[in-house]
Amino acid sequence: METSSNLTMQLYRAWQQAIADNKLINDFQAVEDDPDGRWAKGDEIAFGIQRLGDQYAYYAQNHTQGRAIQSAVEEKTVDETGFICQFNGYRALRPGGQRKALGRQPAIPANAERCRFSCQDPTQSLSLLVRTPLIQVQLQHFTWSAFYNAAPIDPNGHFLWIPTPLGDPQGVLRHFPQYLTPRLLEDALVLFQTFHQTMLFFNSLHAGASVNHIHFQALYHGSVLAAEKYAFKDFGRYSLLDGYPAKVLAFSKENSWEKIFDWVHQFQKNSIPFNLMLLGDRIILIPRNGDHEIVSEFPGNGLAALGMSGKIVTIDPEAYAKVTRERIEKAFQKMTLDW
Ligand SMILES: [Zn+2]
Repeated sequence: METSSNLTMQLYRAWQQAIADNKLINDFQAVEDDPDGRWAKGDEIAFGIQRLGDQYAYYAQNHTQGRAIQSAVEEKTVDETGFICQFNGYRALRPGGQRKALGRQPAIPANAERCRFSCQDPTQSLSLLVRTPLIQVQLQHFTWSAFYNAAPIDPNGHFLWIPTPLGDPQGVLRHFPQYLTPRLLEDALVLFQTFHQTMLFFNSLHAGASVNHIHFQALYHGSVLAAEKYAFKDFGRYSLLDGYPAKVLAFSKENSWEKIFDWVHQFQKNSIPFNLMLLGDRIILIPRNGDHEIVSEFPGNGLAALGMSGKIVTIDPEAYAKVTRERIEKAFQKMTLDW
């Protein structure tokens, strides 16, 4: 159980070890045809992260067709304001990652039997019950276990952080829905403050969450995101990011969890979806319009905390080709709330 300040180092060391042990290459079955013909529905695909020299890179192989899959991940800077767009064809392969319709998505069942982490069913290959945590840390309210994300957005590190009540036995996972409580937020802030060069985020249902089991995600923070480049504008009871193309509440990293939870509570009470991003010197809270969970500018998958902070990951090659600042602004206007 790790509690010291070198948590970050241990986390990435465990990530790199998992890559060395080939744990970050997993088998999937394609749920639909690839628009570029690299896989057909039903093909057996292995994909994940491999080490190439001193770099970590994506690896993908179509076992059914017996060939390597090329350039299923590309990334570009959209403009000088720092917006980044990543095309990630692999994301569509993960459980629950298939192309979705525009607008509000069907509710994700809250019952444990349907949990996409298969938290009660060790017979499923990606069940969290059969995966060994990369690292565990005991905080004030929960034990937090880090797992590698099975469809990483960044080859340098993309983690699921799963809280379990203190004192629960190892190897048991109680199913809690994707819903924030004061104690979860308080611990999450401490966890984030312990990290170095790592962002931490939470996506509510209808705001990017694809699993209805309590989880945060952490991601290697290699380059400055757009949402870090805008100054705070103080409106008394709250601050916004001045000039940012979405109305996002901004808090300094040192802000108390109580102040942030006041807003989270309001959103949850009123069924307003939201993203919470802990990033560099700031914490950003983004209330979302659930009727525009997926928008025409980025069809197929929803934008979540990372996208709303300036790094848009799309599974749609055309959206990737066409992305501009204007399209991002238009998408953000639909996806966020104006007040
Ligand atoms: Zn569960």
